[in-house]
Amino acid sequence: GMAFEAPAAEPAALAEIRHVVAVASGKGGVGKSTTAANLAVSLALEGKAVGLLDADVYGPSQPRMLGVTGRPKPLGRDTVAPLENYGVKLISMGLLAAEDTPIAWRGPMVQSALTQMLTKVAWGRLDYLVIDLPPGTGDVPITMIQQTPVDGVLVVCTPQDVALLDARKAIAMLQRAQVPIVGIIENMSFYQCPDCGRVDHIFGEGGAAREAERHGVPLLGAIPLDVVVRESGDAGTPIVVARPDGPHARAFRDAARAL
Ligand code: ADP
Repeated sequence: GMAFEAPAAEPAALAEIRHVVAVASGKGGVGKSTTAANLAVSLALEGKAVGLLDADVYGPSQPRMLGVTGRPKPLGRDTVAPLENYGVKLISMGLLAAEDTPIAWRGPMVQSALTQMLTKVAWGRLDYLVIDLPPGTGDVPITMIQQTPVDGVLVVCTPQDVALLDARKAIAMLQRAQVPIVGIIENMSFYQCPDCGRVDHIFGEGGAAREAERHGVPLLGAIPLDVVVRESGDAGTPIVVARPDGPHARAFRDAARAL
């Protein structure tokens, strides 16, 4: 439609998006995608108009996490409609390319894929667009952040020393690029035994809070390590929907309110 005819520098599509929040991590496997999915759904549960752009081109997991299948419908010549579940509009490389297509793209191609997902998708009016970035501090996530009008980046880490070192690198990279950091989320923060209630800090304790303080950014939440988080992600029902009264859901919803 008309909304997509504007020049690439200031795409009209983005003018309808009030807040762009990117979710980053220092390395893979720390729960970046889980966090992005649960924050997006939490915002939708608050009545916000929400989009989720799965820019993790190397391992797009949002279609599975949000239980979305099928292909986005073309709208006109070069625009597609996002798919939707739990009140979240979703676009993902995983929906545009076949699931078994190896994505071994180089930086520039990945960047143009991101630009397409930003500007050639009929997002409509959004209160929040959440971007699930590729993990790490390589060229791809850096370029994506620099070339996208993000209002803030949220960094996900675990309490483990190696993950914190990677997170520190990511934070330093973001601060160098003068991208505002909205906060840190510590995932797999602790484990509470379902039988005896005992809390165990399996990956260490207090590290994320120290990192947050050191960099002068808020710690927005601590998500417990719990098999139900993994199971709900695999089942396509984010934990904020599957267990709305659980400690994980509460932590995600509180963090979403701080965005
Ligand atoms: P990333 O996006 O950082 O690579 P994911 O969000 O894909 O990480 O999470 C990696 C795996 O760990 C997934 O199977 C996910 O379900 C699981 N997971 C994430 N957070 C938790 C948690 N708090 N408790 C248990 N499993 C989790």
